[in-house]
Amino acid sequence: MSAAIIDGKAAAQALRDRIADEVGRFRSATRRAPGLAVVLVGEDPASAVYVRSKGKATIAAGMESFEHRLPADTSEEHLLALVEKLNHDPTVDGILVQLPLPAQIDESAIILAIDPDKDVDGFHPVNAGRLATGLPGFVPCTPLGCLKLLQAALGDLRGKEAVVVGRSNIVGKPMALLLLGADCTVTLAHSRTRDLPEVVRRADIVVAAVGRPGLVRGEWIKPGAAVIDVGINRTEGGLTGDVDYPAASAVAGAITPVPGGVGPMTIACLIRNTLVAAARRDGHLLPA
Ligand code: NDP
Repeated sequence: MSAAIIDGKAAAQALRDRIADEVGRFRSATRRAPGLAVVLVGEDPASAVYVRSKGKATIAAGMESFEHRLPADTSEEHLLALVEKLNHDPTVDGILVQLPLPAQIDESAIILAIDPDKDVDGFHPVNAGRLATGLPGFVPCTPLGCLKLLQAALGDLRGKEAVVVGRSNIVGKPMALLLLGADCTVTLAHSRTRDLPEVVRRADIVVAAVGRPGLVRGEWIKPGAAVIDVGINRTEGGLTGDVDYPAASAVAGAITPVPGGVGPMTIACLIRNTLVAAARRDGHLLPA
């Protein structure tokens, strides 16, 4: 048996098309476009690529994109002042500061400075707290994209055993909370987990967000399980995920490829979060 491939590219395009339609209705109702400000400090090539794709996707959805490129030696004070300005700019609905930041800038100080209601990345502790307590807020884009892919592939997730490997604030922890919110029974595994293969073997849903190429082996996967591979690892053979794809896809029921799985959904969810931010600020009602 070979797994169904979860096509993140197609799912992301469908979501982006829906958002673009809704942006059209937002613009007619409010006479303005939702705006996303993206801040890039320094010249990290991978970050520059992400920022470019985010800007393009924002414009394609009919939104305003404000790009702020700052030199690598920008001081923390300077960046804080820019964030403060964006917090008060009425044309800006969402603010995203591309991580990682250069060493002289304390990332958590910057995240804390962003207005939680413009924090479309969902990294502010207020939004992490809202997610943990089931209040409306902003959910980090990558785990939100994973949840949407799982719901599209499996339908109702209620009662399923989910194992998330990796406990970062950006992916693993919010992923576990989203799955819990969808009524899964959730295990959050990490580098100190005892007998990871055995833990993964009981999962109906496996989400791997580790950053180690091929860590999750095919023989760890329960036959028929859904496997979401968040990992993006640059190896000599090209981009690979955290799951041993050839072996896992022979056992799993459904699996995301790398690239073309989770990655495209991350940007689509950023666009979605920006529209939601604009709609909340303007009291515009969005469809469920
Ligand atoms: P972090 O490095 O912040 O976290 C990695 C997690 O993996 C940690 O919790 C760590 O455990 C755990 N871990 C490390 N080694 C092992 C191991 N041998 N067994 C079990 N757990 C282990 O990474 P991120 O969460 O930021 O990213 C994870 C991956 O996802 C990366 O490849 C990244 O590039 C990718 N990514 C992809 C995105 C996308 O859009 N597709 C977006 C964001 C990330 P511990 O806490 O104990 O150290």
